[in-house]
Amino acid sequence: MNNFFATGQNNTQNNTNKTDNSLNSQFDNIKNNYEAIFVEAAESIRREIDKFKPENPCAVCQIKDCKIEKKDVFSPYPMNCAYREWQLKALTFLSGDYRQKLKIVYKNMMDKKNNYTCAKCAACCKLATSEYSYNQLKQRAMRGDKFSEDFVSVFVPYETEEEAKKANPEYFKLLNELVEDEKIYYYYCPKLKDNLCSDYENRPDICKDFPHNPLKLLPSSCSFNEWKNEIAHEAMLLKAKVDIIDFYKEKLQ
Ligand code: SF4
Ligand code: SF4
Repeated sequence: MNNFFATGQNNTQNNTNKTDNSLNSQFDNIKNNYEAIFVEAAESIRREIDKFKPENPCAVCQIKDCKIEKKDVFSPYPMNCAYREWQLKALTFLSGDYRQKLKIVYKNMMDKKNNYTCAKCAACCKLATSEYSYNQLKQRAMRGDKFSEDFVSVFVPYETEEEAKKANPEYFKLLNELVEDEKIYYYYCPKLKDNLCSDYENRPDICKDFPHNPLKLLPSSCSFNEWKNEIAHEAMLLKAKVDIIDFYKEKLQ
């Protein structure tokens, strides 16, 4: 439950409508909707921030030669200015209470996954991806990264991209298109025998918790696409809010 839309890790992006789980549909949905959702998220955060905005402090301000006309949250206010205090309060709020609220939203969203059941199509065992090479993953695992540790405990790299492509040509094609210039590594799990997990009782959390991120692309055969459909708007809104908070932090600190 600590992903909170971190990027990277296995499997890639995206989203869908209620009836169409095809990979292109997932891709189109996120592409077409994200801009509007980003604006929705920005306006929602702005409304929260404006609750702290002081009312005309300039009327009693002692600071001389202030030339700031636009009293926007991103304006360069001097120290001791009431608007600068507003900026600092906004920062504290966004990194504290507001972020906690988003964590609860994220947890509720992930909990909804429990209403869906794995269809045992085995697509996630046959083709997993990572931005990291096998050696990099092993190094990350040695440094204590739990996801990498789980990942290398079951997955091994495909020797060639051609082999990975054969495992799921449709999924492979879109994964490639989505990452464009970035290097992507393909893996499979040798514990899969006759389309069933041969070590099901001992499978690691990475298998039990799949899918780990509602914004990642899922194989079209994955039954959790229905979960993604249900929470699509919420997930994109949350992702936008997380990105916007990072922007505020960068600008206001
Ligand atoms: S351990 Fe089992 S569930 Fe996990 S990837 Fe391998 S075959 Fe699939
Ligand atoms: S791709 Fe989805 S439905 Fe298929 S085995 Fe993996 S989690 Fe289950």
